[in-house]
Amino acid sequence: MGDVYFLSCPICGSDNVRLPFKPEDVKEVREGVKKLLVLPCCHESFKIVDSDSDYLLADRPLRK
Ligand SMILES: [Zn+2]
Repeated sequence: MGDVYFLSCPICGSDNVRLPFKPEDVKEVREGVKKLLVLPCCHESFKIVDSDSDYLLADRPLRK
């Protein structure tokens, strides 16, 4: 609890990638704050534009 993970990185496929986001960040995203997410595994960056309890929505499709 407390960390935000991708079970699998949508870009490089790394498992259990810990994102540099805190639950507070996810909450802010939900409130309309746009944040830049840089994946620690492959250094791809995304602008995160929305989220819900399970998903982050980026400005381009996240796919494996
Ligand atoms: Zn990656």
